[in-house]
Amino acid sequence: MIDKNKINTKLINILNMKEPFNYTEIGDGNVNYVYRVKDVGGKTCIIKYGADHIRNNEKRKLSSDRNRIEHYILTKQRALINGMVPEIYFYDETLKILVMEDLGEYKILWNELEKYKIFTFFDEQMALFLYNTLFKTTDLCMKSDEKKRVAGKLINVDMCEISERLVFTEPIFNKEGLNSFAEKNAGLVKNKIYTNEKVILSTAKLKEHFKNYSQSMLHGDLHTGSIFINEYEIKVFDPEFSFYGPMGYDIGNILGNLIISYVVSAFSEKSELSYRKWLNTTIRNILIKFMDLYNKNYDEDVIEVTAKNEAFKKYYLDNIIKDSFGYMGTEILRRTIGMAKVPQLKNINDNKNKSSIEKILIEISVYLIENFEQLRDIGHIMEKLDEEIVNVKNG
Ligand code: ADP
Ligand code: MG
Repeated sequence: MIDKNKINTKLINILNMKEPFNYTEIGDGNVNYVYRVKDVGGKTCIIKYGADHIRNNEKRKLSSDRNRIEHYILTKQRALINGMVPEIYFYDETLKILVMEDLGEYKILWNELEKYKIFTFFDEQMALFLYNTLFKTTDLCMKSDEKKRVAGKLINVDMCEISERLVFTEPIFNKEGLNSFAEKNAGLVKNKIYTNEKVILSTAKLKEHFKNYSQSMLHGDLHTGSIFINEYEIKVFDPEFSFYGPMGYDIGNILGNLIISYVVSAFSEKSELSYRKWLNTTIRNILIKFMDLYNKNYDEDVIEVTAKNEAFKKYYLDNIIKDSFGYMGTEILRRTIGMAKVPQLKNINDNKNKSSIEKILIEISVYLIENFEQLRDIGHIMEKLDEEIVNVKNG
């Protein structure tokens, strides 16, 4: 458990907070203990405690190194994209705590998407976040020795093991028997996933690439539950799965999660057409605006001499896009049939809608996984998705 006495002394000395303190546990995940601490004058901060086990289960060990890594990457990201990540007040390795600003005034994006809320600037903000945190941490933009030092600090053994298993292995092989989906989709899952050699091969390629391509400083778990938002700003948080990996993984994760919300909204009477249009455009624009930023800033941002030519610039972007489509597929699939489902899917009560939504998501993820090496156009994916929605609705 957290050592409140020692923490209180730090809060007094470092943050000038005043006793008595009130601790409220606000964490809702499976991994860490997260508290809001309020002092006598109403000043607050957030404490994320990374115990050496997962939340509420002391037998399931998990290295506290994730806490150090979260602190490290947030500090680095802040330097790259000031204002789009929470401010860290301090980190204490012995107490295993990360103390940061309270973002309680913001909303979490996935809750807002469940209410079909529109955020006008989100596409631009996300594209900028992706460009700055991902492209600027590649070998093209960083000195070789510095990049290796940063990548070394982000070796994240325990958390990468979780991603490798839950994203790539389990959804395809169901070795632990934890996949779940509507009975009606059992045949589809068997034919299109468990016994589909193309999907098995592509997933093996994507997993191997995930493990070995130290391209960019990744957030590592970039879903809509890792984003605080309001009308004007985003704050991307919870990067404890960070490591140096293929940037298409982060891009694919956020786009894949938005696609899930999009398909869910197509089956909800509460979502308005204006919302669905906004979300469709946002998904396209995140990638398009990312590519625009890349094309506009490449010459200025790249310091690697061998990369300073048009042919390489195009080759490198092509590979980012391919990867993004592949990881979009693995993310949609694992969030649909794997054990860590998104709340949007878990919360659907209507069984018929639920199996229809699952079917569409399985179909599109299989398409993405099978074809990622040839795919270039997000517009094509969104059109295909809309066709699939219409087909399933028409029975
Ligand atoms: P875990 O990885 O253990 O799920 P998170 O970092 O996702 O931990 O935090 C869990 C929850 O705590 C978040 O979903 C959010 O509701 C709340 N939370 C986390 N960080 C902050 C913050 N800086 N300000 C306000 N609430 C926060
Ligand atoms: Mg987390």
